[in-house]
Amino acid sequence: MGRNAVYCHVDLDAFYASVEQLDKPELRGKPVIVGGSERGRGVVSACSYEARRYGVHSAMPAAEARRRAPEAVFLPVRMERYQELSAQIMTVLSEYTPTIQQISIDEAFLDLTGTERLSGHPVDVGHTIKRRIRESFGLTASVGVGPTRFVAKMASDFDKPDGLHYVEAGGEEDFVLGLDLTDLWGLGRKTRSRLEALGITRVSDLHAQRIEVLRGHFGEAGGTFLYRIARGIDPGIFSGTRKSHSISSETTFERDIADPDILSAILLELCEQVMYRRYREGGVSRTVQLKLREHDFSTRTVRRSVAHDIGSTDELFREAKRLLGERWDGTPLRLLGCGLGNVQSPESTTGQPELFEQPDQSAERRRRLEQAVFRLREGGAHIRKAGGLRDEHRNE
Ligand SMILES: [Mg+2]
Repeated sequence: MGRNAVYCHVDLDAFYASVEQLDKPELRGKPVIVGGSERGRGVVSACSYEARRYGVHSAMPAAEARRRAPEAVFLPVRMERYQELSAQIMTVLSEYTPTIQQISIDEAFLDLTGTERLSGHPVDVGHTIKRRIRESFGLTASVGVGPTRFVAKMASDFDKPDGLHYVEAGGEEDFVLGLDLTDLWGLGRKTRSRLEALGITRVSDLHAQRIEVLRGHFGEAGGTFLYRIARGIDPGIFSGTRKSHSISSETTFERDIADPDILSAILLELCEQVMYRRYREGGVSRTVQLKLREHDFSTRTVRRSVAHDIGSTDELFREAKRLLGERWDGTPLRLLGCGLGNVQSPESTTGQPELFEQPDQSAERRRRLEQAVFRLREGGAHIRKAGGLRDEHRNE
């Protein structure tokens, strides 16, 4: 990280639920839960701030959400609509830097290092971005600006929703010392309770620990991670994205998740997000990758290459699920990511004809259908996939 690095993290507020409230004005100000059903099946994908006041959060079983917020309106996930808006918003964001890293459907890092003369101070850029998202899309975003991605990410949470927080270079340590332990990015409940058992209840308590002591309790990776985050030093959660081109999406859970059905539902959403971005950005890939982070911060990226280009959400989901089944031992997960690795532009694949071979005709038909859906979506049409993937894979 060079001197004067500055990053902006843009995070759309309660994205799925806000889109529903945008499209259905009668739901504004009401508790809205996206995903799951009123009958209590399935998993909450997202919820409005009004629903959060009842203690509802994403990845919670719908039955529990129903108990906590009986008045809430349950809505199905309309991934096509969210992706359409997400893609348009990401296009706006990419006007401010060539180095944009989208980490999920509603979040992106903008590397604003060295852009000040062209675009103005990063804080002004942040305000401009918020205004444009509000005026053009009717949505609010929270923005964090800081000298590392890690700090920018926590800064966007600082004043959420509709906030903007700036942490100047040199101010990272003071910034994290002013946070609660629960606000430290990447610190899960389980680790927090272990810290509490050691009498560490504030960031300043954590800051006071020697690295050897932390490593003694939490292992090499965990101890180093805790030592760094207590000082506002970027622990590298989001680094290493540029070595080879990949398209990925990931989500961090508020509570560790070990339920295979919940993980499978989340994985399908991630696959849909990845395939849509691949469609927009182009390229072919026959490598599926998963990112798994456990409660002790140990993070693994596992990948496998298959014989053919992975050309549809269905294929990606199938391969990703298989890989998860083989490489995950049931340990509760703190984060799940899914992506396509080693993505190559079609021009660079001359001499690798296998990338264009199709495994069979039905797979080819499926991918053509999906691409047609993506094209229509880009044209602004709101359509649903006939006999769509969601219904096929969900037990709704
Ligand atoms: Mg968000």
